[in-house]
Amino acid sequence: MKYFNALLCWLCAALHLQSQTSMQMCGTDEYSFELYRSHPELQTMMEHNRAYLKDFTAQYIANESSRGSTDSLYIIPVVFHIVHMYGTENVSDAQVLSGLEVLNRNFRKQHPDTGSIPTAFKAIAADCDIEFRLAHKDPNGNCTDGINRIPSLLTKVGDHRVKDLIHWEPSAYLNVYVVKSIANLAGHCLMPDQAAAKPEWDGIVIDDSYLGNIGTSSEQTSVVMAHEAGHYLNLFHIWGGNNVPGYFYQPVGQPAIVLLAMM
Ligand SMILES: [Zn+2]
Repeated sequence: MKYFNALLCWLCAALHLQSQTSMQMCGTDEYSFELYRSHPELQTMMEHNRAYLKDFTAQYIANESSRGSTDSLYIIPVVFHIVHMYGTENVSDAQVLSGLEVLNRNFRKQHPDTGSIPTAFKAIAADCDIEFRLAHKDPNGNCTDGINRIPSLLTKVGDHRVKDLIHWEPSAYLNVYVVKSIANLAGHCLMPDQAAAKPEWDGIVIDDSYLGNIGTSSEQTSVVMAHEAGHYLNLFHIWGGNNVPGYFYQPVGQPAIVLLAMM
């Protein structure tokens, strides 16, 4: 877990620095807040899930020495759903593959700038032994290249509704939705405690200009995919989303009274 945290710290720093050059921000906190607002009946379950994950993680770390070697690779099958209206957002297969390549080199500490990791994080930076691979079988057991293309005007919206178009079993696949725009956000993803309570919304939504380092994206913007995958694996923003105890997903700077008024 500490390695994941180091990864997200670095990626958050990257997002912060690049925001000064017109890079859009991650919308995970905002979309999480919207989930809390629109489905208050799920809050108890999400809090229970978060507590369970926290205990599980603590136990896992505590038992690390007794498990012995844990250097086997953990494979996560990925399916990309390209939601498009026949424009540049209908990115090439090559751009999707470049997105996976950048994602994997981030998680496996193979990024070319690992030499410039800040001193404070050097000791915990590591290969996470996680690899993301395109799915080879669809939910029906048929062969697939792991890339679906779905024409829909929702490509210009990029909210949770894109997941109604198509959604592969989230316990078997990481669903990634590539869209044209997300209200000036780069991407968003449910955290595991939320996804367990609302599994039909599990997955990552990402603006096409933040996927991979070719085509409509770039080397600079390509870090967003690993950032969102960090959320998928239970990494919060290092600032925690807000400064209000008990309200994990309230947008930064929004007073608690506003949140309570909206619920
Ligand atoms: Zn984020």
